[in-house]
Amino acid sequence: MDALPTENTLSQINELIRLDTTSRDSNLGLIDLVATRLKAVGLDYTLIHNAEGTKANLLATIPALDGGTTGGIVLSGHTDVVPVDGQDWTSDPFEPQIRDGRLYGRGTCDMKAFIGVILARLPELVAAKLDEPIHLAFSYDEEIGCVGAVSLVERITELGLSPRGAVVGEPSSMRAIRGHKSMNVFKVDFHGVAAHSSLPGDGLNAISYATGFARFVDEVSAELRQGPRDEAFVEPTTTMNVNRIDGGIAVNTIPSLCTVFFEYRSLASVDREALTGRLRAEARRLEAQMQQVHPAGRVEFTPMAGAPGLDTAADEQIVGLSASWGAIAVDEKVTYGTEAGLFAAAGIPAVVCGPGDIAQAHAPDEFIELSQIAACERFIDRMIRSLSR
Ligand SMILES: [Zn+2]
Repeated sequence: MDALPTENTLSQINELIRLDTTSRDSNLGLIDLVATRLKAVGLDYTLIHNAEGTKANLLATIPALDGGTTGGIVLSGHTDVVPVDGQDWTSDPFEPQIRDGRLYGRGTCDMKAFIGVILARLPELVAAKLDEPIHLAFSYDEEIGCVGAVSLVERITELGLSPRGAVVGEPSSMRAIRGHKSMNVFKVDFHGVAAHSSLPGDGLNAISYATGFARFVDEVSAELRQGPRDEAFVEPTTTMNVNRIDGGIAVNTIPSLCTVFFEYRSLASVDREALTGRLRAEARRLEAQMQQVHPAGRVEFTPMAGAPGLDTAADEQIVGLSASWGAIAVDEKVTYGTEAGLFAAAGIPAVVCGPGDIAQAHAPDEFIELSQIAACERFIDRMIRSLSR
């Protein structure tokens, strides 16, 4: 029979699930809970709020036995979950339920089980005679494009913590993932001029230019399909697509506004700035064309979210360390993005390794196998032992 997690771990996870931290809402309830747990074992923490003060990242360091707080390992996780809107759930998504060896609930897999395991191990973490510190980095707004982790990683750098590695506990079925693509989302607003559709000469058709831009995105996308390639990915090339277009108000009105949303996910070898620059230049070219027809023509190019890719070398310490703690070594790279790229970009080598299967993330009836939670417990226990004297 598969190993089962402890009652304590399950109750920590359940408490986290019961706090609805859908990204559009505040995560402060959950942050309060984590803060309470940290205080209970005598640990300090730092909160890094968003501009509105409605959300926060939490950073805490369990110092080494000699009091040292620099170096060491980061355990990182995001506190938010995706919405359940429009999803058909068998049980209340915010009331965790065990059925057939699985724990069901929003965030069970992505990724409150990982955080729950850490909370359950806090007493062991502070009691351990650590040779080097362990840092806990819990972020907000990961699910809307790794937003919160930016200031969290910045703070780690500002504080000079210089960890030697990070484990990002996104669901990977406890495999140590070394690579994923970057994620980049853009919104491009085409502002034309409205007119009666019988008098197109009086207007400027925003949709016409927006569709021109969408075709350009497809052209660049086709070019990217030619290479570079990385066969470790299911989709071996950089991908780019238009995923949404909003425009027009009526069948007899020249549309004054059309918005194109596109994204790309690039290989580490692709220069993101240069690639984004090409798209930006096309938007400017179309804007100039629009202005030749009507001076009110305008194109607004807005990056909405972006996170760097991950490409950790197989010989980085964190890869060997995580394997020694029980992570399954793999060469394949994953299709989903994580905060690990932000750590890597800040000079902190990172792997993605957490309990649960990404296939269940974001889905109705999200679940995690109890055996995966137990595997994560073993991983954390081994990590504590290996970093202790
Ligand atoms: Zn996640």
